[in-house]
Amino acid sequence: MKKILSKKEITKIYKSICEYYEKYLKKRGVKLPRLFNNNGKYTKDALVLVYLAQDYPETKKVSKGELTRFIEIYYPNVNDVQQARHLGAQKGWYIAAGGRDNRDVVLKRGEYQLVNLEKPYPAFHGHRVEKTDDWEELKKEYGYRCATCGSEEGKPNIHWPNTTTKLQKGHKNPNKPLVNGNIIPQCQKCNRADRNNWVYDERGRVIKLANPNVIKRSEKKIRWKVYKILYKEFDGKNPDE
Ligand SMILES: [Zn+2]
Repeated sequence: MKKILSKKEITKIYKSICEYYEKYLKKRGVKLPRLFNNNGKYTKDALVLVYLAQDYPETKKVSKGELTRFIEIYYPNVNDVQQARHLGAQKGWYIAAGGRDNRDVVLKRGEYQLVNLEKPYPAFHGHRVEKTDDWEELKKEYGYRCATCGSEEGKPNIHWPNTTTKLQKGHKNPNKPLVNGNIIPQCQKCNRADRNNWVYDERGRVIKLANPNVIKRSEKKIRWKVYKILYKEFDGKNPDE
């Protein structure tokens, strides 16, 4: 890998990243960093991405130290370069990181490698799932897997190995109708009645309470904390007034 890149090289690599992005990654919700910030300086995200994308698809593994030295050229006070990790897990770029479960490349802890510019990072579900009326299309967007547990349609269920996974239309918010935008595929295990206590996001994860009665079943310590939150929010107001 080149340790120093000219302006021209950076522009060229960034342009080629943009081409892949437009073609493959944008529709999957991957986030493209801007090349320059408002002060006309390269952004750290873009620098890291460009550095890792050198010679794509023949990319090499890069240590965190090497990345740091590269970023230091532009940001002399930088100490801990976390961008490669964030670009992967949070922004969706397929950057394998050593010490994280990846099966594509063998990396040591603190090493990174850009694996692919045509596919997002495998565990990345940050994309807004496109609203679709078409149930088959929706399942396809989820890779025919339960949004919550990942069980695959037609395969043994992760929770119930003797049962074949069947995907059902699950509510994101059980208090709203099961319409376009409020549906996630869930397996028969994750779509059982108790799930109606919760509001799910499009990644199939619990984000809110849908049934206030859950509070009654919670531990006293939790109830006390909830009470404190609400007492503060509503200024100690009598609810019956
Ligand atoms: Zn499930």
